[in-house]
Amino acid sequence: MDKMNRRTFNVKLTQTLIGTALLSNMPLSYGLNSGKQNKKLGIALVGLGGYSSGLLAPALLKTEHCYLAGIVTGTPSKEKEWMDKYNIPKENVYNYENFDAIAKNDAIDAIYVVLPNSMHAEFCIRAAKAGKHVICEKPLAVSVAECDVIINACKENGVKLGVGYRMQTDPHTNEIKRLIKEKTFGEVKYVNSDAGFIAGSWITPWRLDKKLAGGGALMDMGVYAIQSSIYGAGANPVSISAQEFSTKPDYFKDVDESITAQMKFSNNVVGNMFTSYNANGNRLVVSFERGWAELNPCHSYGPISGCTSKGEEIKFPYQPQYQQTIQMDAFAKHVLTGSTNFAPGEMGKRDIIIVEAIYKSIKEGGKSIPLDLGDMGLVKV
Ligand code: NAD
Repeated sequence: MDKMNRRTFNVKLTQTLIGTALLSNMPLSYGLNSGKQNKKLGIALVGLGGYSSGLLAPALLKTEHCYLAGIVTGTPSKEKEWMDKYNIPKENVYNYENFDAIAKNDAIDAIYVVLPNSMHAEFCIRAAKAGKHVICEKPLAVSVAECDVIINACKENGVKLGVGYRMQTDPHTNEIKRLIKEKTFGEVKYVNSDAGFIAGSWITPWRLDKKLAGGGALMDMGVYAIQSSIYGAGANPVSISAQEFSTKPDYFKDVDESITAQMKFSNNVVGNMFTSYNANGNRLVVSFERGWAELNPCHSYGPISGCTSKGEEIKFPYQPQYQQTIQMDAFAKHVLTGSTNFAPGEMGKRDIIIVEAIYKSIKEGGKSIPLDLGDMGLVKV
């Protein structure tokens, strides 16, 4: 494709996708003509580790509909640093013990839980009981039972719940969804997704501790492979078989290292996914009746890129610096205007049902586990 054609294609994609799938739900004019002028959602981050400090807080400096209003940390030395860096007043700073007092703080509208996986349930429930909307990092929780308790707590307290699935609002992901919806290459037949990295001394130790992480690669990167398999197939799986491989048992003593799984989806698509803490994987391939589409990389922090069998590049030149900016603005709009929640709690629960089915299949020697998900967690765009 020559330069001009590629540019035209990219711009067309940007207009088509962002114009319809995302921005129809997220009008840019909100705040200017909605009657709720300048209302921005005040977000408090709980857990100021790598993801909060490296991605979420910087992304919140660029959001239009929400901002970093407060912090909750168990490390007193971080308080002053964050207050100075992000202009956070002392009264919006909490620790894990006095966190529940946040209920009385009108400056905080939503809590974003960014803690080790097994702590998600406790803090999501406390946030909901404090009457605050909740964004929870992936995985929503470490068991289906915990997902249910979180979802019910949010319902009972009348607050919204979103999962930190940043790829659901990424334009490249949504271009894949558009190709499927519009049957550009016919029906999907096969989907393949990889999500993994090689764990080294740099990873925080809780990721290798089942009590805190709930599992290994599957709980961490595997939920991305599950997510992309589902949006690549355009449907939920109806059965799944899985296998676990361990090549470094001395290192991965407590959690899974590498897992493959094969799925059949409700629309007769078949699929294969791979996740690992000991191999890199960052790719989604969707094979249609008359062509294919690939994102490679498909879920890293960007830039995401891809192409189709027509030789067209899937690339959006006008993206914000952070995927998390689009993700958090979309959630803020959901709260403020009732627009689509692109990653609701039900989606997070569905993925943990699949995670539990994968572990069950492995335990039972790769047996096919039936799934009865219906349309659970599928969000129409
Ligand atoms: P991290 O280890 O860098 O940070 C964890 C934070 O939790 C730290 O501030 C730590 O002090 C705090 N903490 C509180 N109690 C703890 C305990 N008992 N043990 C260990 N830490 C404790 O982790 P992270 O990478 O920021 O991940 C946090 C969450 O965010 C996880 O659920 C992870 O899956 C998720 N995450 C999501 C993405 C994404 O792309 N959506 C990326 C990275 C992390």
